[in-house]
Amino acid sequence: MKFKICYLSHTNIGDFMSIWDKSYREHEVIKVSKNITCDVLIIGAGMTGMNTAYFLSDKADICLVEARQYGMGITRNTTAKVTVFQDIIYSKIMDKYNSLVATNYFHSQKEAITFLRKIIESEKISCDFERSTAYVFATKNNDIFKLNREVKLLKQLGCDIQNIRTEIGVCYGLEESFVFNPIKYLNELYDILKMKNIPIYENSPITKIERDNDHYIAHVNGYKITSNKIVLACHYPFFVLGYILPIRSYLEKSHIIVSESDNISKINYISAGMPIMSSRYYKNFKISLGKSHNLAFSFDDKKNSSKVTDTFDLEESSIIDCYSNVDLITFDYLPFIGKIKPNMFIATGYNTWGMTNSVLAAKIISDMLLDRENTYRRLFDPKRLNINLLKCLPRNIFSQLKSYFHISKLSPKTCPHMGCKLIYNPIEDIYECPCHSSRFSKDGKLLKGPATKDCE
Ligand SMILES: Cc1cc2nc3c(=O)[nH]c(=O)nc-3n(C[C@H](O)[C@H](O)[C@H](O)COP(=O)(O)OP(=O)(O)OC[C@H]3O[C@@H](n4cnc5c(N)ncnc54)[C@H](O)[C@@H]3O)c2cc1C
Repeated sequence: MKFKICYLSHTNIGDFMSIWDKSYREHEVIKVSKNITCDVLIIGAGMTGMNTAYFLSDKADICLVEARQYGMGITRNTTAKVTVFQDIIYSKIMDKYNSLVATNYFHSQKEAITFLRKIIESEKISCDFERSTAYVFATKNNDIFKLNREVKLLKQLGCDIQNIRTEIGVCYGLEESFVFNPIKYLNELYDILKMKNIPIYENSPITKIERDNDHYIAHVNGYKITSNKIVLACHYPFFVLGYILPIRSYLEKSHIIVSESDNISKINYISAGMPIMSSRYYKNFKISLGKSHNLAFSFDDKKNSSKVTDTFDLEESSIIDCYSNVDLITFDYLPFIGKIKPNMFIATGYNTWGMTNSVLAAKIISDMLLDRENTYRRLFDPKRLNINLLKCLPRNIFSQLKSYFHISKLSPKTCPHMGCKLIYNPIEDIYECPCHSSRFSKDGKLLKGPATKDCE
């Protein structure tokens, strides 16, 4: 078996080692240790929170508060590909809506890439950002049909997509795509925000938010942060937002294996449709991702991880890390970005394309906070209610309940967030909540929210 290697890779930041942890920069961690007042409180310092803080840094009185350390949420385990060629997302959106909505989504992603490049270039951020063709391939008839439809739309929109010869199905490549190191990017964004005297508090989980007349009070480390506005950049909110999650989305977990070799092939690809097979290179490393599934439906991490190793035919001796990651998939494949309550904003549901969507969300939300127009605010309105989101509701509730009762029999440990039973993940040596993806060390220490306290 191939797992003992992974156990060796623990860090003092958390549970395991992701490929990007090696780039993490030591810095002084400042916790919330007094009552604070600000205009805009941003909760969460991943790609979304840090980009939002960047866009607002010169124009608003903001405060950024992070439960652990910046970048250590979902962003820590991403593969960080940046492209408008996102497997077959336009085809999926066309199935739910029409080609006009898919076209608008395309323009939003293109704009997000422009913003990201602009930030990197103007701030001279050194984050291994480089051009690298994005390939998408399909082998099954249904997926080939969808991929061909996707490519037809992208070509109509002006993308220079190349057809690549292959014996196993069809494959297309888009040269105008990129990869980067997200932690190096956040290291430098952190320095820029600090230079601008933006307060960034870490190891400070917000545990409760109250509304008091026309402002919010957030509770953290025994202190209060009073603000006029709140941006929830915390991936999965720690309190119940009944009408948004989970009834319009689900959490998708994927397994990632990092291997090292002197002759890594420098290509990035993803499969169209299921099962997902995705790969990218970083220096001498190959990051292979697969076995993506609804978090609540498959608990055998050893088997799932092993499947990825076999699918990519990885040499046991070349494997240096294995871990997993979870992202929110919305039933209509559009993110949730915008206002959900008076002066409260949310940005999540990126359907595993968060490098572009986090920048987009940061731009939309900062424009809303600064009373500026933004073309995409209606498209991604988190309160949208339509037949595409509602159609999936009964099936999702049924499967969530089925899985809840199944899990109840499996595990003795309970998540302090909403009482779901925790599942042991032997690959990362942690307990995991199959309902909302909170993570705990073996001795019950909280590693990742939405839970805000340790489990017993
Ligand atoms: C397997 C996988 C591969 C992916 N690959 C790609 C890719 O190649 N390209 C791409 O574009 N996207 C990719 N994504 C998607 C992308 O990684 C995510 O969408 C993105 O990183 C989300 O960023 P975020 O800032 O919204 O969330 P996070 O990075 O999770 O940041 C949220 C932060 O909020 C903090 N927080 C949570 N609760 C609290 C609280 N109560 N108080 C204070 N702070 C709190 C957390 O600690 C965390 O740091 C991938 C996703 C997965 C699962």
